[in-house]
Amino acid sequence: MKIEGACHCGYITYEAEIDPEKVGICHCTDCQTLSGSAFRTLAFTREGTFKLLSGELKIYVKTGESGAQRPQSFCPECGTPIYSTSIDDGPKVHSLRAGTIRQRDQLVPRVQFWTRSEQSWLPQLPSFPKIEKQ
Ligand SMILES: [Zn+2]
Ligand SMILES: [Zn+2]
Repeated sequence: MKIEGACHCGYITYEAEIDPEKVGICHCTDCQTLSGSAFRTLAFTREGTFKLLSGELKIYVKTGESGAQRPQSFCPECGTPIYSTSIDDGPKVHSLRAGTIRQRDQLVPRVQFWTRSEQSWLPQLPSFPKIEKQ
């Protein structure tokens, strides 16, 4: 599936090919901190298909629990996280932050990672009062 994405301020735009069957949610504590939220929704690109169309990404390299280094990219102007990827050479899989994808309404997560650190209130979410607009 071909998708397009952008950061909040519009400086960064990109396109990529993703597999809609491989959209997932990550509950790891790094994703909680780096997204500023309870969990992160991810869409994985087909290898080597990520294409930056405008802007220049800022990269922060984090070291994971396994010791693996994962470059995290974000917009230097507005701070929107765009992807993480591996440091090795050659065509890469990019883990896109699904909220930056224009077609995100069509992307339904199929799997959850790192549920060990899932926020304890998440299963109760459907019972919380809903306000259509704040
Ligand atoms: Zn931006
Ligand atoms: Zn994570």
